[in-house]
Amino acid sequence: MNLFDVYSLFDVVPVRAQGCRVWDDKGQEYLDLYGGHAVISVGHTHPVYVAALKEQLDRIGFYSNSVRNPLQEQLARRIGEVSGYGDYSLFLDNSGAESNENALKLASFHTGKDRVVAFHRSFHGRTSGAVAVTDNPRIVSAFNAVHRVTFCDLDDLAGVEKELAKGDVAAVIIEGIQGCGGIHVPGIAFMQGLRELCTRCGVVLVLDEVQSGYGRTGRFFAHQWTGIRPDIITMGKGIANGFPCGGILISPMFTAVKGMLGTTFGGNYLACAGALAVLDIIKQEGLMANALAVGDYIKEALPVTPRIREVRGKGLMLGIEFDESVAPLRQSLLYDKHIFTGVAGQNMIRLLAPLCLTKAEADRFLTAFKEVLG
Ligand code: PLP
Repeated sequence: MNLFDVYSLFDVVPVRAQGCRVWDDKGQEYLDLYGGHAVISVGHTHPVYVAALKEQLDRIGFYSNSVRNPLQEQLARRIGEVSGYGDYSLFLDNSGAESNENALKLASFHTGKDRVVAFHRSFHGRTSGAVAVTDNPRIVSAFNAVHRVTFCDLDDLAGVEKELAKGDVAAVIIEGIQGCGGIHVPGIAFMQGLRELCTRCGVVLVLDEVQSGYGRTGRFFAHQWTGIRPDIITMGKGIANGFPCGGILISPMFTAVKGMLGTTFGGNYLACAGALAVLDIIKQEGLMANALAVGDYIKEALPVTPRIREVRGKGLMLGIEFDESVAPLRQSLLYDKHIFTGVAGQNMIRLLAPLCLTKAEADRFLTAFKEVLG
């Protein structure tokens, strides 16, 4: 049987990884500035993380739902402490798309409405197939039609206001920083206006922090740079350093009703053990501060050249935008310099390195980047 051929893959087979480094089956070492699409938060195979997973696997394995799971309760308390959202509740699931799906479902239950407002270039997931709130023409799914998603321009508050005034919108969903759509950072005044608008119109504000969250920008969530508090925050990717895990933080204005949300695997013991280890490591190693410092360092040290149109992002969520396709540069970084990077669209190199990236590793990238730029 063949694999269903939906991914463009590089011909590299990783067999070992540690920190920000990966080795392939031929023994070649690589610097990983992409973290498997932002899922490696505390570094590959961190010993504290590996020990936590092994211990849990030996003890009880994957046991999941229908009985009390003290690790879920611990995780809720710990996320509450580190994020400043201790008065919110936690619901655990398995992925970013599922988190957004649950958030929109809750918003719909709460308001009795079904229209969703999202933003051009946004991406809120496609894994489950049920939720594909994005206007990326390669991905747009039936979900958008079924749930009547309307797309506004980022930072256009008047455009959003026009939609909310129609009175049929359940939720506005927005990324803390747009990731797949090209690292666009919403303005502070816009975010504050959006918060005020949603409150005034009785619309649920959902902050998708799947890619921009968990310390990547130097704050626990990227929206915390804007001073607002959303009604629901969605999480995924780095929450358990690559072990499938997602979740949503739900404001006290929502009342839980039995059976309202559900999952088979969400919040299983292994996922929780991984997520708790991630929080321990972030705290012990000061990884939020590191992400911000090393991200700023890269931004400032990037070469100034007319080929680079703009550098956007915060912390270790950075996009380097060119006027040309970045495919040759990225190939050269991978095959000549042995550095993994990501892309957003055709013209942007996207960096989503593990939060433990050191300045020395950043220097290795900067030197290589200048060389491939010529
Ligand atoms: N939301 C954002 C902002 C994302 O970047 C992604 C994935 O890239 C998702 C949601 C979907 O996450 P997942 O692929 O884990 O379902």
